Amino acid sequence: MNSSSTEDLVEQAAGVGDNGSPEPPFSLELSQDQQDIRDWVHGFAADVVRPAAAEWDEREETPWPVIAEAAKIGLYGYEGLAQFWFDQSGLTLPIVNEELFWGDAGIGLSIMGTSLAVAAIFGQGTPEQMGEWIAQCFGTPEEPKVAAFCSSEPDAGSDVSAIRTNARYDEAKEEWVINGQKAWATNGGIADVHVVIASIDRELGSRGHAAFIVPPGTEGCEQGAKVRKHGLRASHTADIHLDDCRVPGSCLLGGKEQLDERLARAREGKSSGSQAAMQTFEATRPMVGSQAIGIARAAYEYALGYAKERRQFGRAIVENQAIAFTLADMKTEIDAARLLVWRAAWMGRNQIPFTNAEGSMSKVKSGEVAVWATERAMQILGGNGYTREFPVERMHRDAKIYDIFEGTAEIQRLVISRAISGVQVR
Ligand SMILES: Cc1cc2nc3c(=O)[nH]c(=O)nc-3n(C[C@H](O)[C@H](O)[C@H](O)COP(=O)(O)OP(=O)(O)OC[C@H]3O[C@@H](n4cnc5c(N)ncnc54)[C@H](O)[C@@H]3O)c2cc1C
Repeated sequence: MNSSSTEDLVEQAAGVGDNGSPEPPFSLELSQDQQDIRDWVHGFAADVVRPAAAEWDEREETPWPVIAEAAKIGLYGYEGLAQFWFDQSGLTLPIVNEELFWGDAGIGLSIMGTSLAVAAIFGQGTPEQMGEWIAQCFGTPEEPKVAAFCSSEPDAGSDVSAIRTNARYDEAKEEWVINGQKAWATNGGIADVHVVIASIDRELGSRGHAAFIVPPGTEGCEQGAKVRKHGLRASHTADIHLDDCRVPGSCLLGGKEQLDERLARAREGKSSGSQAAMQTFEATRPMVGSQAIGIARAAYEYALGYAKERRQFGRAIVENQAIAFTLADMKTEIDAARLLVWRAAWMGRNQIPFTNAEGSMSKVKSGEVAVWATERAMQILGGNGYTREFPVERMHRDAKIYDIFEGTAEIQRLVISRAISGVQVR
């Protein structure tokens, strides 16, 4: 692993999309560096993550010892994330995600969940804010911390414009006062840094939103109910209550001047920069898709091994076309989904316009392949597939969320259909 400082990260961030050089040709050939990183993450996933998966799934708790191990070797931390994110091909982070989530998705999200908050700071913060907060999201290798990104609310999931959490500026104290309730926040309440989306002007819908850092230990920011989930149970999910939660003026991501200009433009009905937001979402979707592919591949590999071992009617079950063809279809679908993910990741990294919502295509395909492939894996394992003694049952539970969070399958289809038709499909 190369090492880089927060300053490097900020510098690289400032240079994204502004490198002046033509994008590299799309290539499926991984560099030596990428192959080394893939093998290194795979080793961690196989030796540390996979053996711990069942225990943390049962405990339904954040696997702090595993996060600490990941931090120790540089897999968890801003230096690692910067190295994965900033390679020019765009493929390194999807490769890392696939290997890590191949190990286990619940633990994988405990390690990668912080990157949601980091992406928001990176996307909307000033260089000073990136320098101050990104490292704090991760803590140190000796004392790792996690961060949370809090956008969804009980009545605002797919419909982000319905957010009710509000922020008002207290001029006298130069502080923002935030009130509201957030739902389903990954790492919510156990995080040191929370990034909270709040409405400044509800009449403007999502154009009236802003993102705030809520620093560690801020009064008025409390964890609500912890969510008991179907899958991803090693990843902590909870509601967050914000009651007169006061944060310094400097915690508004992007700064007040930029916000005031943006709100003024929106009130005059001028361009809101929604194209830029769309480009950002499309660029992060393949990263989520690559996590789903990791789960799908894990289930496929397990089922393939099982089918070669398990004997019925005097032969290995893989000798039956019904089983072998299912495995052939699983492999084909997983590879097809990965190609969509890699294409979108390359486009995002190189600022190539997503004219057909290629990021959404990669996310919806990967999520559905993961749900389908893990279900097929259970079928191949028969009764064993349905038990907690075998990992495909957990993989299937974990996979389902990839049709739901970070934009449901229906919302991805809405985005794709609008992009390809130019029609405001509802
Ligand atoms: C484990 C987990 C972790 C999460 N982590 C986070 C997090 O860290 N931060 C965060 O902010 N949020 C998080 N979420 C919330 C997640 O992003 C939302 O659950 C998701 O966006 C869907 O919103 P919803 O649950 O309100 O569903 P709804 O929006 O109520 O949708 C319900 C159904 O209606 C469909 N639907 C809605 N609108 C339309 C439409 N216009 N056309 C067609 N169909 C439609 C949906 O596709 C879905 O099938 C998490 C959720 C879970 C379960």
